Amino acid sequence: MSRTPEARNPEAGAPEARVPESVYARVREEVAARADRLWGVGLALHREPETAYEEHGASRLLADELEREGFRVERGVAGLPTAFTARAGGKTGGESEEGAAGDGPCVALLMEYDALPLLGHACGHNLIAAAGLGAALAARAALDGGEDGGGIGGTLLAVGAPAEERGGGKVAEVEAGLFEGVDAALMFHPGVYDWRWAPLTASAQIRVGFHGRSAHPTGNPTEGIDALGALIQLFNALGVLHKRLPSGSHVQGIVTDGGRATNVVPEYAEGLFGLRGGTTAALEELVEELRTCARGVALATGTTVEVTGVGGRYEHFRDNDVLSGLFAGHLERAGIGVTEPVPGLYLGSSDIGNVSTRVPAIHPFVAITGADGSDHTPEFAEAAAGPRARRVMLAAAEALACTAVDVLLRPDVPERAWDRFREKAAAGL
Ligand SMILES: [Zn+2]
Ligand SMILES: [Zn+2]
Repeated sequence: MSRTPEARNPEAGAPEARVPESVYARVREEVAARADRLWGVGLALHREPETAYEEHGASRLLADELEREGFRVERGVAGLPTAFTARAGGKTGGESEEGAAGDGPCVALLMEYDALPLLGHACGHNLIAAAGLGAALAARAALDGGEDGGGIGGTLLAVGAPAEERGGGKVAEVEAGLFEGVDAALMFHPGVYDWRWAPLTASAQIRVGFHGRSAHPTGNPTEGIDALGALIQLFNALGVLHKRLPSGSHVQGIVTDGGRATNVVPEYAEGLFGLRGGTTAALEELVEELRTCARGVALATGTTVEVTGVGGRYEHFRDNDVLSGLFAGHLERAGIGVTEPVPGLYLGSSDIGNVSTRVPAIHPFVAITGADGSDHTPEFAEAAAGPRARRVMLAAAEALACTAVDVLLRPDVPERAWDRFREKAAAGL
């Protein structure tokens, strides 16, 4: 097997190197050797659920486990106290380590670990953390401990990604440049389906505030300009707009300020709108449509309007099918088959979207309950500590580690993954 940077030269067309079966077998052995410990980590997180940005115990536990096996850990990255990175192989300060030839490719294994308020690990992020940890440890041990002594052939980067449920830790990590130089970002998510990739929309929140003029509704009604009336007209206009939105696009609003008293014409009214688009471009169009509607309503009602974005924007998820295909093959060998998602069905949004539009990424779902279940429920939280969850977590750890090995040892894989990434980007997908 070739690991030289020359082998990645796109001019030459990298050969389709194969990973020896013995390496995959070693990965499986390394996961199996840590099975109880990994499950222990998954259960520890489950027992002490921590919500977004409060995941101090989880991030410490995971970073400590990685450090113990020789990863170089940096805590509190991207300005987030509960984010961390752990690195093995590659170069530090220009000095080559662990026998790596040049820099080689870089594979990121992503761990989420935040829980939901009141519901605990009802999204199963404890399993994402345990599988990501297992994959990082097993891939490193299998490659570094190999008989050929060739080292890991690149860089393994374990990324602690907090606050997926609220705020988006990965958005901050992307903005901090943490994924620069990464060739593949790998994670899995437990779910109710076995799907090769996650249909996740782009999403944004927009606040719309109408300014009118207060007056007494009977004393001097002609002086009043009803800001709440304008906001209600905006909801009506969006109701008409909704009928012609493309699949994946959606807008849901709530009233956050509707006035103070029934004997005062509201001088200010405010709504908060959640917008989604099947692609980031579709979301941008929808944001523009909302602005147009708001301006039109202001004009019609004699109000003025302010439209402002709230928080970070989640981009749509761009599946890298070169990588997700490899993952699917490895998972199949662990006894779990994944299919394409049901067309037209979207499963919310996630900050993995922002990673996936920067570097080749995967985010498959693997079921821990039947398809009649749902995440974000007490039943799902219970399943995330059950026997099926343990099997799924270990199978995902194996498949993630084997996919990481493919990226590190087969020069054609990162090259094809990047080609596919650029192809989809050019098509706006
Ligand atoms: Zn969730
Ligand atoms: Zn989740």
